[in-house]
Amino acid sequence: MIFVHLSPTERAERYLKRDNIDINILQTILNFYCLYIDKRKKIENVKMSLDIDCRKADSEYNFVSKHILIAGITEKHRRGKTKNGRLKYLLEHLAHEFRHCMQEVIFKKDASEVTYDSTDDASYADNPLEVDAMWFEDRVNKKFVELYYHLNKNKTRKDISKFFTG
Ligand SMILES: [Zn+2]
Repeated sequence: MIFVHLSPTERAERYLKRDNIDINILQTILNFYCLYIDKRKKIENVKMSLDIDCRKADSEYNFVSKHILIAGITEKHRRGKTKNGRLKYLLEHLAHEFRHCMQEVIFKKDASEVTYDSTDDASYADNPLEVDAMWFEDRVNKKFVELYYHLNKNKTRKDISKFFTG
């Protein structure tokens, strides 16, 4: 089993703070998916850094350094007009890039299987790692959003003290 530690860069931290997105919830969602996908008994700690850069056009995952870059979305973007829209976009990209991390850590794929230079390359859409990451993104992105809102709503019980004071 893997345990993912997600550490945001300063830029990502600013982005998340601006939109009031909880990094702990993002980390919890990734670990939730890993728990049933990774059947290995050994616990592997995976430190992953997360950057969000609004100037980039493509999101990417760097094998070996385990760095996720999300091409951030601005309010000018068609899908960036609302906080909800921006969160959905972020979770979609996070699901896709995190699948590449799973491919590396759980399924033992390496960067040599990445055979394209950019997402414009014809070989990009046919690459097995991309086909798999797109499949995963497609399957889970709505659930990522539901889980995010669910966890965000249930962080604390306002009335918890009455259970402990007798
Ligand atoms: Zn990809």
